[in-house]
Amino acid sequence: MNIGRLLNDTAAAHPDRLATQQGERKQDYRQFNARVNRLAHALTRLGATPGKNVAILMTNVPEMLEAMFAIFKIGCGAVPINFRLHPLEIAYIITHSQSPVLITEESFQSPLKEVREDLAGLRYTISTGHGTEGVFSYESIVAAESDSYREVDVDPDHVAWLFYTSGTTGQPKGAMLTHRNLLGMTERFHQDILRDPGDDEVVLHAAPLSHGSGLYALPNVENAATHLFLETSSFNAEKVLRLFAEERVTNLFAAPAMITRLLDCPSIAPNSAPALKAFVYGGAPMMVHDLTRAIRIFPNLVQIYGLGETPMTITSLCQDEHVVDGDDTQAHRLASAGRPRTGVDVMVVDGDGRRLPTGQIGEVVTRSDVVTKGYWRDRDATEKALRDGWLHTGDMGHFDEDGYLYLSDRSKDMIISGGENIYPREIEEVLTRHDAVREVAVIGVPDEEWGEAVKAIVVLNPNQQVSFNELIQYCQDHIASFKKPKSIDFLDDLPKNNYGKVLKRELRKPYWPEENRQI
Ligand code: AMP
Repeated sequence: MNIGRLLNDTAAAHPDRLATQQGERKQDYRQFNARVNRLAHALTRLGATPGKNVAILMTNVPEMLEAMFAIFKIGCGAVPINFRLHPLEIAYIITHSQSPVLITEESFQSPLKEVREDLAGLRYTISTGHGTEGVFSYESIVAAESDSYREVDVDPDHVAWLFYTSGTTGQPKGAMLTHRNLLGMTERFHQDILRDPGDDEVVLHAAPLSHGSGLYALPNVENAATHLFLETSSFNAEKVLRLFAEERVTNLFAAPAMITRLLDCPSIAPNSAPALKAFVYGGAPMMVHDLTRAIRIFPNLVQIYGLGETPMTITSLCQDEHVVDGDDTQAHRLASAGRPRTGVDVMVVDGDGRRLPTGQIGEVVTRSDVVTKGYWRDRDATEKALRDGWLHTGDMGHFDEDGYLYLSDRSKDMIISGGENIYPREIEEVLTRHDAVREVAVIGVPDEEWGEAVKAIVVLNPNQQVSFNELIQYCQDHIASFKKPKSIDFLDDLPKNNYGKVLKRELRKPYWPEENRQI
């Protein structure tokens, strides 16, 4: 099945439902589908034939959703690019994905010009705003085509989305997500996250459409939800809170960093999100201290753990497990990423791929119909990541006796100090509980005696001060002495990518000449 059919079916069943809304710009499902179909015709005319890829460089705008569905329907692979990347990184993805066509916005025209020489394979650019020389105007190209289009029949293992990893570890790799993968993810959304959708669903695309929000647009199209877009490309927490109430948002995906920003808004109150049915978060660890604050405000939190390589779908901690003031077991589980999703196999294995017993830390591996079939034009990386049908996530973790998965860290972030494995998350969890601390990242730095030493990089709450000794004592009171940081740096902010992930590589850079750290 072509995943693009979700839209045809919804448009047929609910043509008058509001499909997209950005400020005063609104369209119903009939209009939305018609524009997607028009774009599908235009792309076909430009030579985007099944099996090719089409790049999308856009902020969160309705046209981005139109582009994604048009590309699915014509049997091409959509390549949504994180618009905050450097023009050279953008050019790398367009070229690596061999996309002959790019769909973009007017504001990206000049940065793209800077890297024109790196875009030799790109034949056509379609852009919102006015067409210029060599650039088709999105509106004119769409206007010239017909409203109806029947999606191309594709094999379930045909590529629908080339998901370029966020590149926290080097050059991004394009995970090939097939129609089967996206359908599997969509079904799991209904099974595990929003089981009983109504006819009033509103999804807020507050996170990037090139990542989690774009993926969760699919089940929301199937549910005939209204897709609500912010009017700015940055995350405005106060605005999001207002939309929660005014537009009666029922579901969204957010990175933990976005949730903490919402919690810091002066206007936040326990009834701030009156219509929310599922507030899905994930993509990075959420500290228990922050999660506890969030639970007191947002009633319907769901944590998901996934990777671009198996989108949004490995484990989840469901709504009724988000309990504060519960018993010890419930409190402890807040530190977990929950249990395996419906029909998803998850194991923790040692370096030889052998399943480890409960309680032992190893690499998390997973197997399901949501797992990618491999990386685009990268056989080595594919062979490394997919072994005997299992996706090796690079995340370390352990299961408890009840089947809850506790993630420690990415394997490359683990610190080995004096032969001991130290997982930064444990120290980060402790330090974020300190009243003066807003955020913290823990990394390993070179140490002559121990090989690596623990360093904490701390961001303080506004108007707070704390000494090195006090924080060290705080650690000593809560965790084994060998894990406590040997040094602490204080910064105003932690470097993060567009998806809210702390860039530990950036933090490590000043301390490690790149070639010296094994990752
Ligand atoms: P990406 O492929 O960009 O979505 O990044 C996937 C990585 O984000 C995973 O390998 C984890 O390291 C991290 N991640 C995703 N979800 C969670 C979660 N719920 N808790 C902790 N880390 C997470």
